[in-house]
This record gives sequence, structure tokens and C-alpha cells, in this order.
Amino acid sequence: MKCSCLIGRSLAHARTAILRIDKLTQIRTDWTREEVAELFDLPFTELLFRAATVHRENHPPEQIQLCTLLSIKTGGCPEDCGYCSQSVKADSGVEATKLMEVQSVLQRAAQAKDQGSQRFCMGAAWRNPKDRDMPAIVEIVKGVRAMGLETCMTLGMLTPKQADMLQEAGLDYYNHNVDTGPEYYERVISSRKYEDRLDTLKNVRDAGINVCSGGIVGMGETREDRVGFVHTLATLERHPESVPVNALVPVKGTVLGDMLADTPLAKIDDIEFVRTVAVARICMPMSMVRLSAGRESMSEATQALCFLAGANSIFTGDKLLTAPNAGDDSDGALFAKLGLTAMHGEEPMRACRVEQSMEPAE
Ligand code: SF4
Repeated sequence: MKCSCLIGRSLAHARTAILRIDKLTQIRTDWTREEVAELFDLPFTELLFRAATVHRENHPPEQIQLCTLLSIKTGGCPEDCGYCSQSVKADSGVEATKLMEVQSVLQRAAQAKDQGSQRFCMGAAWRNPKDRDMPAIVEIVKGVRAMGLETCMTLGMLTPKQADMLQEAGLDYYNHNVDTGPEYYERVISSRKYEDRLDTLKNVRDAGINVCSGGIVGMGETREDRVGFVHTLATLERHPESVPVNALVPVKGTVLGDMLADTPLAKIDDIEFVRTVAVARICMPMSMVRLSAGRESMSEATQALCFLAGANSIFTGDKLLTAPNAGDDSDGALFAKLGLTAMHGEEPMRACRVEQSMEPAE
């Protein structure tokens, strides 16, 4: 009895302490590049401590959000993203398909829900959706949402009108990555500009849809480019609700896959990857930071460090669009080993937004 009383009291103290720390949380959108660079340069242990502290102030540290990603239209994309096996410019063997039937997508969403997913993300390899595609897309969003899953789509660039249609259908999130820092961007993609990406993010935000935007590290960029990548997202008018951080999965036949294969640059250094996650967490305290592509080749220890550094969302399943993923069995084993649990209910940032308490700090 005495023992459980003590535990109860310690928990109460811990809760009070957390509440007190909560008041210190500051959401800033005025980060300078120098400040972001200084965070990257911190001693690793200090950086991790700061990131973990920010993480605990804003998120339950033992909970990880599970998302499922489905390619609803694969390959044949006219864009030339140098990392992507779905570009028509890539010689990757990925075959182009048509948009999946609505019912087939809904079936896959139901399976994802049964397997514990909170969010169902759908990707189409398009430069932008055509107006003739929109009715089916709208039907898919409505159907997935009716199952009680959060919906996310990535369909390429959006016009304001298309963003409005998706919002009216009930789309919760739209994913559109900035990919990397502004200076390195043109080394990766030439068929659309960095500003085009930012315009789509603005159209999505203006329509009232939550923003999912992140990028890829390990594309041969420098740390300064990674600083630029985090800085871009952390200085948007409002931070993206979700920030996926991918490690490049080099695919043979893609520009970057061929360029980086068998070179020391081909794989991002694990510690540098964790640093990127930690800096993203510190600069965007409320956002969900998602470990995305590249996780299947990461050691358990590196993934554990990422969770400690503030990553709190992963993709489940054994495939991410066309790239391999860790798989449900290995995720289950890792969660058991680390004592992590699947997140349920609303994301902290969305819940916070509903309460309208998320205004950027003055
Ligand atoms: S990343 Fe998207 S836009 Fe770029 S080539 Fe691949 S499918 Fe197309």
C-alpha cells in the first residue's frame, strides 16, 4: 500500500512538473538559419536532451502514431525528382498503373484500420491531379473518412480550387514535401521549382487542410542544406502538422540512386540522421515528426535514438509506395522491446488547433 501511495504521489508530482514545463513551450516561426545551424552543431548528447525535453513537453513520449501508406496510382509521373522510381525519367522498372478503383482503395483502408492504423495516406504519382480525376478522389476521401480513419493524400501540385474540393470532401491532411533545402533543390528536381512547392502548401493551408511536409536526407546534400530544409519548414506561417523525415532509399535506375550507389554518401550517417530529427523536433515542437522511408535499413538502436529525439510517427506495413518498409512484425517486436504503444485519438496539434490555442508566439 505504502509503495503504491508513493508511486501515486510521484506520478502526481511528475504531472505537475509536466504542466509547469508546458507553459514554457514556445512555438516560433521566426527561426534564423544561424539558430538552426547552432542546434545541429550542439554536442550530440546535449542536442538529444533538449529535443527529448521539448518532445515531453508536447507529446506522450511512449506513444507512436501508426500510419499506412498506399500507392493509389503508381509510376509514369512526368516529374523528374532524382530520387523517385516512379518518374518516367527513371529506368527503375516500375510500371505505370491507372488510378485504383474506389472500392479497392476502401478495402485496403479497412485492412489498415484492422491492423491499428490511425491514418491512411494515399499517394498518386502525378504532377498534379486532372480535374477528371477529382470525383473519384473525393469519393475515396469520403469513404476512408467514414471508416473513422484520418485521411491524407499526396497528389502533386494543387490549385486553390482542387484544395477546396478536397477540404469539402473532408480531407484531413495533404502531403507535399519541400524535399530539401532551397539551395540543393535544383540539384534534385528541375521540372518544378521550390516556390511551386511552397505555393501548393499555401493553397492547402488556405483551404483549411492540415499540412504534411518534410523531406529526404542522404541525397548528397551538405549539413547546410539540411539546415535550410528544417529552416524552411520551421519558418512557414504555421508549422506543418506532420513532418516526415526520410532517409534516401537509393533505387537503381534513378538519378540519385545511380549517382550515390556504392559511394560513402549513399547512406546518411545514422548520427546525422538522428540530429536532423532532433533539430526538427526542437524547431517544430507540436508537429508529428514521422520516420518515413529508409527505416527498413536502420538499426533498432538508431530508430530508438530517433524516438528519443522526438520522432513520434511511423509508416507501418512492408511497403512504402514502391520502396520497402520495416514490416509489421519487426515493428511489433521493436515496440515491445522499447515499451512503446500505438497512439490513439487525435493528434496533439490538431486537438490544440480545435481549442484555438496554437497561435505562433509574438
Ligand atoms: S516524387 Fe512524386 S512528383 Fe516526383 S517523380 Fe515521384 S511521383 Fe512524381
